[in-house]
Amino acid sequence: MKVAWANAHFLAHLAAPRTYLGLGDEDRVARAALFAFVQITADFVFLAALLHLCGGIESPLAAFFVFHVLIASILLSRRATYLATTVGFLLYAAVVLGESSGVLDHYPLGWVWGPGAYRTWSLAGPGLAVLGVTLYLASYLCSTIAVDLRMRVRGNVLLSRHIAGERLKLEAAYEKLQESEHTKSQYMRKVAHELRGPLGTIETALKVVLQDMAGGLSEPSRDLIGRAQRRAGELAAVTHDLLVLARAREAAVGQERVRVEVGALVQEVIEDFRESAARKDVRLSATVVSGGVVLGDRVALRQMVANLVENGIRYTKPGGSVSAAVRAQDRDLVVSVEDTGIGIAAEDLPRIFDEFYRGAQARAYAEQGTGLGLAITRVIVEQHGGRVAVDSQPGRGTRFEATVPTAG
Ligand code: ADP
Repeated sequence: MKVAWANAHFLAHLAAPRTYLGLGDEDRVARAALFAFVQITADFVFLAALLHLCGGIESPLAAFFVFHVLIASILLSRRATYLATTVGFLLYAAVVLGESSGVLDHYPLGWVWGPGAYRTWSLAGPGLAVLGVTLYLASYLCSTIAVDLRMRVRGNVLLSRHIAGERLKLEAAYEKLQESEHTKSQYMRKVAHELRGPLGTIETALKVVLQDMAGGLSEPSRDLIGRAQRRAGELAAVTHDLLVLARAREAAVGQERVRVEVGALVQEVIEDFRESAARKDVRLSATVVSGGVVLGDRVALRQMVANLVENGIRYTKPGGSVSAAVRAQDRDLVVSVEDTGIGIAAEDLPRIFDEFYRGAQARAYAEQGTGLGLAITRVIVEQHGGRVAVDSQPGRGTRFEATVPTAG
């Protein structure tokens, strides 16, 4: 019983037009299609019997076969339509061949109406009515479908025109947005540039005052000047990072790019930080598995790696380690920087790439920091067609991965 039901279910789905698939309620459509198929087949049997009794090949009833094929093609899948057409044709052929070979008796069209009936309305009337109804029903059916199809095509054309229009609008809005982003970063760069000089002078001046007049200053004055010098230093760091961020943003996409050997670049950055890591008793290492080359801006890529390594050292306690690695992955190059530091709280993770964002633990652990390093890192990686990912466990360590496409 179960097998029979499964077969019927399978057949029903075969009979249903595929264009209905994915619109939901497939089972109901399949059941309706199976019912239509059985109905059309039964109609063919009935029609064949009628045809046989009403003159066989002489009868205009044959037109009804066409009519049923039209209905089948509307309601059923292409496969089921061909199957129903074959059933109809075989039945029609059985009547015609059966009668012509003498296996079946032939009932001339006149036997119902009597000989010479073609001269009377009793034959001409029903004959005309049958053919007329068939023709008009067929034309009604086909034209209804054609109108429906044309309306759908028209709807699709209008919709695609609308979508094209909206796309143009979106593109224009995106261009405006990019223009304003560009203006913003140009402005940011100018301000940062203007501030950098005076801030540097203030910091150096305060440093000189502290060094040269250390003996002649009271304790509170020394403390005050010392704090002012530190604040000036922090501001100088922020303006420096703002300048770097603005430059990274403005780096035009079509800008001339050079071949950068990322492995060598990572080794260089590690050497740059060796001293500061040793001062903090943090072990520093690099593993370069791939000598892959990236087409890009060398200075920017170096800055990106430096930001990750600097953060690793900054947020790792003495005795810990920071390791950088370069490996190939499909057509990309993956630069990873992993540390055994303080880690990042889950609630901070989604925001660490935002400008000026600093995690609470990071602020408590390391006072210095502008909150711009990772924003710069992300901009640079994205400018090179790549992406940055982070994985961290608070108290155990953090791993950053920058994936960039290789040259060629
Ligand atoms: P900054 O380090 O100057 O605060 P960043 O933009 O470089 O700014 O980093 C943003 C924040 O991401 C940091 O304040 C810190 O909370 C977190 N962070 C980044 N790198 C690490 C790391 N290696 N270990 C722990 N926290 C990190």
